[in-house]
Amino acid sequence: MKQISYVMVKPYFANSKVIIDEIKRRLQLSGMKIMDESYIRYDKKRASMHYSEHIGKSFYPELEDYLTSDKAYGMIVAGENAIQVIRELMGQTKNPKEGTVRYDIPKALGIAMRITENVVHSSDSEESAKKEIGIFLQLKKEYSNQQTNNTAKTNKTKTSGSNFNKCDDDFVL
Ligand code: GDP
Ligand code: MG
Repeated sequence: MKQISYVMVKPYFANSKVIIDEIKRRLQLSGMKIMDESYIRYDKKRASMHYSEHIGKSFYPELEDYLTSDKAYGMIVAGENAIQVIRELMGQTKNPKEGTVRYDIPKALGIAMRITENVVHSSDSEESAKKEIGIFLQLKKEYSNQQTNNTAKTNKTKTSGSNFNKCDDDFVL
């Protein structure tokens, strides 16, 4: 059965193109097709919509702080049994197994595996995917508008002769 899922590289990890590319590579190796993708930035309102089922739980404040702490990277992914196939690729919430993204990426980075500050999200049902993709598409539009505004501002204040290139990639795998 062909399904659509939503995959999101969470803040901190989304600062690395190497990590994003590694997750995309694993998705594609499993026969998944990336239909749309963008950096996004969750605010408190959209974080609470995305994680509505967890509002009121003890870890929710920490989860919301994490999701809103920096930019993330969202993807709409399609494929045969996409929901389950991708959940298996990403690994379970607690004690993910070796060979999954939630295990392998922290291990490669030499950092501790964390329950709240984990690497990636993926939808747990078609219904969740639909809701999460709706939020992603709103955020994608806002992120793109924000980038356009920033470019306009930078162009206004640009000093000649500057050859400083900001590099986002602060991880080496
Ligand atoms: P997922 O679908 O595997 O991401 O897990 P859930 O939907 O149950 O939880 C959403 C996110 O909340 C997880 O990815 C974790 O970041 C965090 N989380 C879930 N359960 C716990 C928990 O028991 N403790 C803490 N600290 N964080 C949790
Ligand atoms: Mg979930």
